[in-house]
Amino acid sequence: MNKLSRRDFLKRTGAFTGGVYPSMLAMGMLPAAPAHPFKLEGNANGKEVVILGAGLAGMAAAYELTKLGYKCTILEARERVGGRCWSVRKGSINEEKELGAHTAGFDEGQYFNAGPSRIPHHHALTLHYCKELNVPIQVYNNVNENTYYYSEGKGPLSNKKVRVREVHNDMRGWMAELLAKGMDGGKIDAGMSKEDTLKVVEYLRAEGGLDVDKLYKVSARRGYIESPGPGDREGKLGDPLTLLAMLQSGLLDPDFYNVAEYTYELQGTLFQAVGGMDKIATAFQQKVGGMIRLNAEVTSIRNLEQGVKVVYKDKTGEKSLQADFCICTIPLPVLSNIDHNFSSDVSRAIDSVVYMNTGKIGLQFKRRFWEEDEGIYGGITHTNNQLTQIFYPSYDYLSGKGVLIGYYNFNDKAVATGNLSYQQREQFALDKGSQIHPQYRQEFETSFSVSWHKTKYNMGGWALYSAEERQSLYKPLLQPDKQVYFAGEHMTYLNAWMAGAFESARSVVAALHSRTSGSRFAYPVLGS
Ligand SMILES: Cc1cc2nc3c(=O)[nH]c(=O)nc-3n(C[C@H](O)[C@H](O)[C@H](O)COP(=O)(O)OP(=O)(O)OC[C@H]3O[C@@H](n4cnc5c(N)ncnc54)[C@H](O)[C@@H]3O)c2cc1C
Repeated sequence: MNKLSRRDFLKRTGAFTGGVYPSMLAMGMLPAAPAHPFKLEGNANGKEVVILGAGLAGMAAAYELTKLGYKCTILEARERVGGRCWSVRKGSINEEKELGAHTAGFDEGQYFNAGPSRIPHHHALTLHYCKELNVPIQVYNNVNENTYYYSEGKGPLSNKKVRVREVHNDMRGWMAELLAKGMDGGKIDAGMSKEDTLKVVEYLRAEGGLDVDKLYKVSARRGYIESPGPGDREGKLGDPLTLLAMLQSGLLDPDFYNVAEYTYELQGTLFQAVGGMDKIATAFQQKVGGMIRLNAEVTSIRNLEQGVKVVYKDKTGEKSLQADFCICTIPLPVLSNIDHNFSSDVSRAIDSVVYMNTGKIGLQFKRRFWEEDEGIYGGITHTNNQLTQIFYPSYDYLSGKGVLIGYYNFNDKAVATGNLSYQQREQFALDKGSQIHPQYRQEFETSFSVSWHKTKYNMGGWALYSAEERQSLYKPLLQPDKQVYFAGEHMTYLNAWMAGAFESARSVVAALHSRTSGSRFAYPVLGS
């Protein structure tokens, strides 16, 4: 039988109208948007797989394996699924080293995403699972020119909150003026003709908002000190910030780089799950929940001559189970303290990979003063102090109460705040935050902080590899250790992203199924 090409199909059915698109989708001629195809053939031949961890990697692996007929059991140490994909709500509990457990006292319906809050538009697999599992998504507002830069203790702008819009546009203006002067004076010679140079100068005028003399005076792009309005109210512009003032105040330092707009992952459009990112985890739970044993903390993983034996403890004591294969998604700093008989290369990798120190605090306020008083709807305020960032919620605008993320910090700053007690972290976030938003004192209700590098069953934000470690540590983990496969965000180049968890899950499913079915399934599939 002749195979019908996509082109032939379109010709015969009279192009893309009416029911053609759904029929093509149904006939497998188009991948279900927005994911890449993942169609494995053959069946499980009665094989059993024990999966360690009910985070996104573990649950996605179970979900895909079950489609192929494997019998899966998932062991999860926590009393909830999702791992790092976690939204803190009323009654949420976290346990940190030294500090013990604490419980969130937010109001019903209030939450913040302690882990993932953003889905980049090019993370097709994350978006695909949202679609396949019916998790509604909405746009996430990551970049907001109306938020602030706050430089503490540095230069003429010290301790003054400056709107991001003012800094961005003044900086752009001054930089464009400098370049335009350089072009004019012939100081910048990129082998251009006079005509080319004129075109570049014209571009710089537009880019920087320069006047006819190629000077940056001021621009309405940076906003007004008195808005335009009715009658003779034409609007009043303020003076631009000088380049020197911004420089001396540290606004050219890495603390304030434009990472939010420039980084590939953070470029718009970004999405989030409606009602909290944990909706993705609970959607998987609905599919594979029957296979999950909660409160089951794995204490030993041993390859046998054939198969694998896993020991775990739950509320009733120590238990063990055997399976043909194991997929281990336990984060490496946790796995490092679990008994195993892996090869020396794998063992060294598990013990050596460093994870990011990072923490967040959610602060619940009686009213959304950042929206009502300051016109801030989503986005991020950046600081050079230990807060690092304040994230404003990108949902439920102008509703009553709200939870904002009072700090989201990394590295040494995260270690310093992580070393504080829960109470001290709250105090710190309120003290520093009220310098920017004096309303904090009046409106604050309750807080909940998470220090990921101190959090039991994670002990880190995400894996960090140097180029050398990609060779020496990452590579040995990519191969199964006998019957044990490794998955999780740490098994990809998509560290710190849910997409990493999903890609790694599909990758081990393809590898494991290739082995049991005798067919070769490459992943990622060509063209995906
Ligand atoms: C602060 C922060 C911000 C982030 N922001 C984003 C973002 O904006 N967008 C995005 O896409 N991603 C983001 N991520 C990354 C994303 O959350 C992760 O990549 C993803 O959730 C990892 O999934 P995983 O299944 O690999 O690991 P995990 O979610 O950590 O799952 C591992 C599971 O193993 C369990 N476990 C551990 N030890 C044991 C044991 N002994 N026995 C049994 N079970 C055990 C854990 O409880 C956990 O459920 C962020 C992460 C953090 C921490």
